[in-house]
Amino acid sequence: MAILKVARLGHPVLRQPARPVPVDEIRSAETQRLIDDMIDTMREYDGAGLAGNQVHALKQIAVIEVAANPRYPDAPAIPLTVVINPVVTPISEETEDGWEGCLSVPDMRGVVARYTAVRLECHDREGRRVELVAKDFFARVIQHETDHLHGIVYLDRMRDLRTLSHLVEWNKHWLGIRQQDD
Ligand code: ZN
Repeated sequence: MAILKVARLGHPVLRQPARPVPVDEIRSAETQRLIDDMIDTMREYDGAGLAGNQVHALKQIAVIEVAANPRYPDAPAIPLTVVINPVVTPISEETEDGWEGCLSVPDMRGVVARYTAVRLECHDREGRRVELVAKDFFARVIQHETDHLHGIVYLDRMRDLRTLSHLVEWNKHWLGIRQQDD
């Protein structure tokens, strides 16, 4: 187990597409170790999720977990979920504005519109096919992490950069102000 170095905005690895992981490679010791290290790293930095690109591994692997997260005090809990080779399909056209942050864009928050419900098809860490429907915050995190695997960061999805805030200012001026749907 190890805490991995997290790439920050400006590092080209965040802008490159990650490659799918062949099923027989998912069960390899190397991939299993990477997954364990990604989980450790996410927890160490209180992330809600972490994608391969963020730890300099261009593999379509993301880990997601929200358990009483101090960076997202109002977020509902999400059990540990390992997402490999994800395909995300919106279930409806409905979107919702919400605040996002990113371990690769430290100490910042911005409002991003995301689909409120998505279908996720992927592999789990045993290489099994998984299909699930995610809503609200879980759907948001899935979209954020899957974007990373395609070289996209949340800033690219912001419709209005004027909400972009340093965390200290966000706590002072924005905390508790709920963004409403358009
Ligand atoms: Zn991120």
